[in-house]
Amino acid sequence: MTQRLEKVTDTFANTIRYIIRHLTGCTDSHADEKVGYTSDERQWQNYKVVICPSGFFDDGTYGTAQSLPTLPLKSIDGTPVIYGDDTITRQGDTLIVKADIIASAYFMMARYEEYADTSDEKRDCHGRFIGKESLAYKAGFLDRPIVEEYGRLLRKWLREAGEQIDEPRAEISHCYITHDLDMPLYSKTMRGVIGAARRGNAIEGIRNFMAATEKNKYFTFPMLKGECDKLRNAHEGKVSEIVFVKSTVNGNIEKEDLPTYNLQDRHIKEVIEYLKDNGFEIGLHTSYYSGKHPHNAHEEASKLRLETGLDVTKNRYHYLRTLRPQDYQSLVDAGITDDFTLGYADVAGFRTGTCRKYRWINPENGEVAQNLWIHPMIMMDCTVGDKKYMALSENEGLDTVKKLIDQTRQHNGEATILFHNNVFCDGSYDYEKLYKGIIAELRK
Ligand SMILES: [Zn+2]
Repeated sequence: MTQRLEKVTDTFANTIRYIIRHLTGCTDSHADEKVGYTSDERQWQNYKVVICPSGFFDDGTYGTAQSLPTLPLKSIDGTPVIYGDDTITRQGDTLIVKADIIASAYFMMARYEEYADTSDEKRDCHGRFIGKESLAYKAGFLDRPIVEEYGRLLRKWLREAGEQIDEPRAEISHCYITHDLDMPLYSKTMRGVIGAARRGNAIEGIRNFMAATEKNKYFTFPMLKGECDKLRNAHEGKVSEIVFVKSTVNGNIEKEDLPTYNLQDRHIKEVIEYLKDNGFEIGLHTSYYSGKHPHNAHEEASKLRLETGLDVTKNRYHYLRTLRPQDYQSLVDAGITDDFTLGYADVAGFRTGTCRKYRWINPENGEVAQNLWIHPMIMMDCTVGDKKYMALSENEGLDTVKKLIDQTRQHNGEATILFHNNVFCDGSYDYEKLYKGIIAELRK
């Protein structure tokens, strides 16, 4: 940063530089330094490309209702822009761009609308922001990672201004195949057997109760791992399989956390040992309770580390719950370095507008957290198949996810998908077909 940004605080100035680096994808080149963000015409000559601030970050605008965009959006080269307009002019050797792709990218990555728009009707009964209420869905671009499109535009403008900057390789940079361990085993306690009997499944309940852990109906890990191993063979070193484990602390639960399980139970220990011995990573599945009481995440993380003997640093919230700034701050305080929660429950797509990992941006103060990575998730099993969400057939669901994977591949992104271990056994939907279809697509 050579110039001070007018009307913008130092915190925002740092965040703006971070966003420009994310957009250009610069790791070893310094092309990002050739991008300015100022309306001070005297400074334009210092840059190859200048993005003109739309006023979004100004005191008196940021955080207010007037900072929220209205539809319809303008677009530039077919990409919707959330702030600014669609004109590009030239002054000397410098391109002057009025499309404020910096504020637009910030809006998506910091989940600004979820922070600034507090209206209840945009949240469901669990306090989760509803995907179909998001700007991205309403403007029709939730299935496109528009932050990546901004990056592609910015690199194109830099090249037009004579700067050398390459496009990223069109391949998936990393696959995160993830599973939330809501129900590790079926009917493995007396309570479970009684529950099965009440639902008319007494014989199945007793059979699972008596059988060895690895014969349990919900012990689908060999199938999950088998598919994941095929993916590993195709993309060595670029595949992680993570199981997020509940670690509830006595009494600190909500009804949505039921059934809880005891990490010291013999059968649960067998599951955890199997996972550890077979290449699965263990992450924390933070409880619904912690979603209401953020300080509790620290205790859950400590307990999971103690019980597993592992340095647990990855997280996903049960129910993909709330995700307010204080929730993320509680993850930082709990020693979590990587969060995998950010996808909508009700509709698959690019909730953050980007398909690459990035450092959490706190919309409350605009700060970039140095020690918490966000890994956006493109789909969850029930989002695609459940009647109350997208309600797609197996084939329609696979087609939808294939398109998201293709977008991810085009932009050298990460593909994070979520399948629960128990989803393959209940109901009439063939989630195994969907899972195997997605893995086959990722192997390409
Ligand atoms: Zn869960």
